[in-house]
Amino acid sequence: MIPAPFDYVRVSTVDEAVAALAEHGEDAKVLAGGHSLLPIMKLRLAVPSVLIDISGVQELSYVRVEGDEVAIGATTRHHELEKSEVAQAEVPLLPHVASRVGDPQVRHKGTLGGTVAHCDPASDLPTALLALGATVVVQGPSGRRSIPITEFFLGFFETAMEEGELVVELRVPRTGAGGWGYEKFTRRENDWPIVAAAAVHLPDGSTGVALANMGGVVLRASAVEAALAEGKSIEEAAELAAEGTSPSSDMHADAEYRSHLARLLTKRALKVAAGETGASTAESTAA
Ligand SMILES: Cc1cc2nc3c(=O)[nH]c(=O)nc-3n(C[C@H](O)[C@H](O)[C@H](O)COP(=O)(O)OP(=O)(O)OC[C@H]3O[C@@H](n4cnc5c(N)ncnc54)[C@H](O)[C@@H]3O)c2cc1C
Repeated sequence: MIPAPFDYVRVSTVDEAVAALAEHGEDAKVLAGGHSLLPIMKLRLAVPSVLIDISGVQELSYVRVEGDEVAIGATTRHHELEKSEVAQAEVPLLPHVASRVGDPQVRHKGTLGGTVAHCDPASDLPTALLALGATVVVQGPSGRRSIPITEFFLGFFETAMEEGELVVELRVPRTGAGGWGYEKFTRRENDWPIVAAAAVHLPDGSTGVALANMGGVVLRASAVEAALAEGKSIEEAAELAAEGTSPSSDMHADAEYRSHLARLLTKRALKVAAGETGASTAESTAA
C-alpha cells in the first residue's frame, strides 16, 4: 500500500519541532523512527498532510544520570538504550526490554519517545516504563511539563499530550542492578507480546508490576502491587494479575487465556526479580 501524499519537514532542534507543530496544526504528525507511523499511513489509517521528522534532533538522543533518576531523550533508539552502559548499570530492566523489541532493524530505527507516544497496549517499553513509575516530559508552545506515566496513557492510541506537544524525555528512578524481571509471551521471537509482565523493585521499597496487552492501554497490575505491599507471597499476589483488566480475544489468544498468561508471567517476572530461578524467556514460549 502507498500512503496518501504528504509534505515533509525535517527539523534539527526541539524548538523547530514545536514551531513546525504550531504552524501546521492538527494536520501534522511527528515522525521519529517511523516503524509504527509509516505502516498505519500505508494502510491509510493515518493520513497526515505534513510529517515533521524529529529523528535528527540530536539534543534528544541521550541516556544520562540526573540525581536519583535516569533521563532518556525521546529520540533515543531502542538499540541505543539496549547498549547504553548507563542504563545497564542504573536501570537494567529497560535495556533488557529494549533488546526484546522486534528485530534488529526495528530496534535501530524505533525510538523511546515514539513507542510511548504511539500508545499501543501491546508495546514492550511502555510496559517497563509503567512498572518503573516513569515520568513523561512533553514540550509544546507553553513550554515543558511533566506527566506521571500513570496519567499519560488514556486509551487505545490516546495519550495525555495536547495539540502542539511532543514527548522530549522519559525519567525513571535509578533501581540499581538487581530486582527486576520481564516475561514476554510471543508466538515468534520478534513479535509484539500476546501478553507480557514487567516487575521491578523500586528504590522506595515497593514493587512495580505492569502488563502489556491486557486492555486498551498498558496497565499497572495494582492488585498485585497491593498484595505484595501487604506481605502476600509471590504466588498469592500473582493470582490477582488479571484483576481490573479487560483483555481482548483475537486470533492469537482469547481473553481467558490472556488472563491465565497474565497470572503466569507475573509470577515468573516476580520470581526472577526476587532472584529465584525457574523463570525464563524460553519457558514463556511454552506457557
Ligand atoms: C516489524 C515490526 C515489529 C515490531 N515489534 C515490536 C515489538 O515486539 N514490541 C514493541 O513494543 N514494538 C514493536 N514494534 C514497534 C516499534 O517499537 C516502533 O518503533 C515504536 O512503536 C514506535 O516508535 P517510532 O520511533 O518508530 O515512532 P513513529 O512510528 O515515528 O511514530 C509513532 C507515533 O508516535 C508519534 N511520535 C513519535 N515520536 C514522538 C514524539 N517524540 N512526541 C510525540 N509524538 C511522537 C508519531 O506521530 C506517531 O503517531 C515493531 C514495529 C515493526 C515495524
